[in-house]
Amino acid sequence: MNRVRILVLNAALGPLDYSVPGDMAVEPGSVVIAPLGPRTVTGIVWDDGRLPGNDVPASKLRPLREIVPVPPLAAPLRRLIEWTADYYCAHLASVARMVLSSGGALGGPTVTTEYRLSGGAPERMTAQREQAIAALEGEQGTIRELAAIAGVSEGVLRGLVNQGAIEPVSVSIDRPYPPANADYHQPSLSDDQMAVAKELVDAVNARGFAPFLLDGVTGSGKTETYFEPVAQAIRMGRQVLVLLPEIALTENFLARFEQRFGAAPVQWHSSLKSTERRRAWRAIASGDAQVVVGARSALFLPYADLGLIVVDEAHEVSFKQDDGVRYNARDVSVMRARFEEIPVVLASATPALESLHMANSGTYRKLELPSRFGGAELPAIHLVDLTREKPASGRWLAAPLIERLEERLVAGEQSLLFLNRRGYAPLTLCRNCGHRFQCPNCSAWLVEHRLSARLACHHCGLETRPPDACPECGEGDCLVACGPGVERIADEVAELLPEARVAVATSDTLGSPERAARFIAEVEARAIDVIVGTQLVTKGFHFPELTLVGVVDADLGLEGGDLRAAERTYQQVAQVAGRAGRGAKPGEVLIQTRHPDAPVIAALADGDRDAFYAAETEARRDAGAPPFGRWAAIIISAEDEREAREASVRLGDTRPSASDLMILGPAPAPLALLRGRYRYRFLVNARRSANLQDTLRDWLGRQEVPPGVRIGVDIDPYSF
Ligand code: ADP
Ligand code: ZN
Repeated sequence: MNRVRILVLNAALGPLDYSVPGDMAVEPGSVVIAPLGPRTVTGIVWDDGRLPGNDVPASKLRPLREIVPVPPLAAPLRRLIEWTADYYCAHLASVARMVLSSGGALGGPTVTTEYRLSGGAPERMTAQREQAIAALEGEQGTIRELAAIAGVSEGVLRGLVNQGAIEPVSVSIDRPYPPANADYHQPSLSDDQMAVAKELVDAVNARGFAPFLLDGVTGSGKTETYFEPVAQAIRMGRQVLVLLPEIALTENFLARFEQRFGAAPVQWHSSLKSTERRRAWRAIASGDAQVVVGARSALFLPYADLGLIVVDEAHEVSFKQDDGVRYNARDVSVMRARFEEIPVVLASATPALESLHMANSGTYRKLELPSRFGGAELPAIHLVDLTREKPASGRWLAAPLIERLEERLVAGEQSLLFLNRRGYAPLTLCRNCGHRFQCPNCSAWLVEHRLSARLACHHCGLETRPPDACPECGEGDCLVACGPGVERIADEVAELLPEARVAVATSDTLGSPERAARFIAEVEARAIDVIVGTQLVTKGFHFPELTLVGVVDADLGLEGGDLRAAERTYQQVAQVAGRAGRGAKPGEVLIQTRHPDAPVIAALADGDRDAFYAAETEARRDAGAPPFGRWAAIIISAEDEREAREASVRLGDTRPSASDLMILGPAPAPLALLRGRYRYRFLVNARRSANLQDTLRDWLGRQEVPPGVRIGVDIDPYSF
């Protein structure tokens, strides 16, 4: 190989050609460093003829500088990079960057230094040092990571290192992970489970592309069942990827995995420490990592020999990435399985309509687990009509729900109240002048969080201390909370049932794996009577003593014109209902609603999933929505409102006029201001047969985009 084409990890540059020095052995997929002007760039050697090239004569080519010592990216992964960039209208370089720099794979020593308590005391103790030492018991990490854990500055920790109370330890990032044993603990499966497991194991053995929808009711034991093909892949020496939607679920999953396989799987998520990330990346690339449990980004890792992908809770919104490369991990996982020629299992009790459609049309194989494991019954579901059962003024729980909560408390059983709103109240006003506290960077209200005494924007992360006086009229002590958030519901429960032990479960309170683990342990130890939680608690958790689920406001998700509002409401309520009565005791679900006759709510009350999907299918067909047609969103944003508006008007003037596409807009995007950028939006509705991506690429590619303006494409958007 003399001349090679490099996919450079820089979206501003196209593919570049280089010559290969005689003593350098490169192949497609090799990761290389190449000179560019006075600097160097990192790139991936690509297959001949697949990327558009430049016409530099051979004599002018510069030689590659060096090969990065990591295994070359295999052809299936290169195809995945190409497909993802093509389908989602993203830059190849941006997708390739997700593969390579996700693990800090490039460069860096293989031995690193971490720190931990030495057991000794510092000569001079200060309050901060004391705090650090108490917080770091059993912890190990870089100074920076430890400082974050302890909540002190890095300087405080360096002081402790100097005084010998914290010691360095050197760790090899290539130390092996404990091996998983496929036959460590074999559970006895039910007949239904066995039948499903056999099909999946056969598919792993067959080593070909095979997409499955594992459609099993909540509590049917989907995990136990898909562990069997996982075990088979382990026996065959192949790797497995299990995608989970939420970090809070991981702890639960890890415990069950360890019981089944005798060792923890390799984890991949955004809160991994940097050395753990690099360690995992390298083990995945070398093939040493057998089973990887990860968030959506784990899909783009360079597995040496992937044999199976499982996407658990495959309907979850969190598989959709909404910035950078906007992809849906559920869909990309099927494509990866196709390129790798392996089975992929989408598991859910409430599949996305698109997935169900694929299964019903025979594109995916449907496997069903129609009943709960161990004979547990699905919970009884009752509606509470809020137009008749009105909660007391300034309260949110109606009498029937309060009665049931009391009964459970007396019986020593646990309850879960679901409201998909973090914080204390979604809107805060000044009682004197009516001033509404709004985020300066986003078109969104600031949400009061009493537990942390903050006003927070849920879109940009801005947090401020609640002001002592209204910034508008100067009135002191003036804040009024409007509407409920989970913290407010928790307060209401505490007032109604003073003896109840109440816990708030949201990403604010369970945001780290440690806190999630502590929460689960507390619930299991029955130290909590009532959990008040957001969508975080709708999935994955298995608490046998939990017998009552209350949905505080089932109508919340139905407001607004979101295409998927009905489906999401159905999924959330059905999933949270599925937390009730999973043990020996039967469960009960109360759904508070002002619209008991709305089709979604009625279907939930009747436990008639088919009716819901049938109605939703017709609605989607009428709207030309997926799976019958397709949507894309184009977001034009700029820090300057006028720049954003003018760019979107110019874009609108050149819109393509294809008969199989309908382009709506431009209009201010739902979040017209987000993180300090003004946003305008086009919505594109396309027939299934339309060549959506090429049309968009062609349209957007013709634009002169001013430097401050960004144009983002969202194919198959989730929220609009
Ligand atoms: P799902 O994910 O379908 O909601 P889970 O996988 O959480 O259901 O299973 C529900 C409960 O039943 C879990 O506690 C699980 O350990 C238990 N379970 C499922 N299948 C078996 C089995 N074959 N043997 C023993 N326990 C099982
Ligand atoms: Zn904001």
